[in-house]
Amino acid sequence: MKKIVIIGGGYGGVSTLRRLAGRKDISITLIDQHPYHFLQTEGYELVAGTLPFDQSFVNLHTLCSSYGEHVTFLHAKVDSIEVDEGKIYYHDRHELVYDFLIIAAGSVTRFISSIEGLRSCSHGVKSLTGAFRMKQFFENELFLRLENDKHAKEHYSVVIGGAGLSGVEIAAQMQHYFNRYYKSNTLACATLQIHLIAGGHSVLKGMHTKIMAKAEERLNDLGVIIHKGAHIESVEPHCACLEGGKKLDFDFMIFTGGIMASPLIANLHLDTNKLGQIIVNKYLQLPDHPEIFAIGDVAEIRDGRGKLIPDTAQVAIKSGQCAAENIRCLLEGKSPKEAKISIKGLAIALGGRYAIIDLKWIRIYGIVGYFTKQLVESLYKWPLWLRCRIGFQKTRSCQI
Ligand SMILES: Cc1cc2nc3c(=O)[nH]c(=O)nc-3n(C[C@H](O)[C@H](O)[C@H](O)COP(=O)(O)OP(=O)(O)OC[C@H]3O[C@@H](n4cnc5c(N)ncnc54)[C@H](O)[C@@H]3O)c2cc1C
Repeated sequence: MKKIVIIGGGYGGVSTLRRLAGRKDISITLIDQHPYHFLQTEGYELVAGTLPFDQSFVNLHTLCSSYGEHVTFLHAKVDSIEVDEGKIYYHDRHELVYDFLIIAAGSVTRFISSIEGLRSCSHGVKSLTGAFRMKQFFENELFLRLENDKHAKEHYSVVIGGAGLSGVEIAAQMQHYFNRYYKSNTLACATLQIHLIAGGHSVLKGMHTKIMAKAEERLNDLGVIIHKGAHIESVEPHCACLEGGKKLDFDFMIFTGGIMASPLIANLHLDTNKLGQIIVNKYLQLPDHPEIFAIGDVAEIRDGRGKLIPDTAQVAIKSGQCAAENIRCLLEGKSPKEAKISIKGLAIALGGRYAIIDLKWIRIYGIVGYFTKQLVESLYKWPLWLRCRIGFQKTRSCQI
């Protein structure tokens, strides 16, 4: 029986698992440092208190159990991969042998090392732990303001460094949340303010000009203060120092200015780009190791014309499906197929029931965009939750 090992149970790893799990002639081990798949694309809603905690993840134990005994979940952090031996190591030199390996270890926030104090004084949003802590922190702040009138009058500001997709989504959702709380309950939020630092001359740099303009308009309507063309020089415990001498005091700072591949990759001595992402061939394999595939944020993925594709959940899912298809081909003695990955569209949530959907040929704004985004996300997570339910029943009946 061929052994397939998948490192990382995020969007990429889970999509490979779903495509391969129907085959009973292979054994699959999914290994992740967390026992859950964090639904990162909805992380901004968790932070802003509009998504219940239990709906922000998919349990990997029950998901794997649902497929049968040939699929196993291993809750462990992978320390290294010996590509020449066909083994991975976890938990102090425990080893796992593979015939095919899928590296889907994702990415982490890239705290730019030349910005002094950035790493120690700001927070990333790429993990459930980080998002959950942020949510608790803000809820606690709101509670203190409600409890104590004097506290409520104090200014409270959140600085978000980076005005790309995640920075913009978090800024909009949090400001909307503060506004809603202010309107419906109390004066306690009157002094809460979000500052968004955009390095370029607009938010969502690189996207269509209409989208940049609409997003900016929405952020302005919500009351987010956008600092355009601003660059962070250094960060002190409660102050972001911008180039040109401007200082922004903050109570909490979030940094969303970039990503880099999972730290696991740095120790593997593979061919990588400047973000540490693995360079793969057109079949998503490591050029010297056709039995190893790299997918999602951990890899540098290009479209059919060789153009770099942005790191998104959509790309992670599609690359995971391509890798699964190619493993099927190799198992059946066929040649792998070229990965033809492209982005069909993009959804940008902008606080409350407002989103922009860009399908290239049509753009949808506002509440229709919001419901379209909700539908797309539901179509992704509901089948996974249903599988988890099956896995849960199986596990429970084994325990009784
Ligand atoms: C706030 C925010 C909003 C976003 N919004 C969107 C959006 O609207 N649309 C969109 O398409 N994309 C969005 N993205 C980007 C998207 O979330 C990522 O591109 C996507 O998660 C990448 O999927 P992945 O499978 O490569 O990695 P991940 O989903 O990050 O999964 C990687 C997995 O690998 C595990 N792992 C890592 N290292 C190890 C190790 N050493 N051992 C064991 N396990 C390990 C991790 O625990 C994790 O579970 C957003 C991102 C953020 C942060």
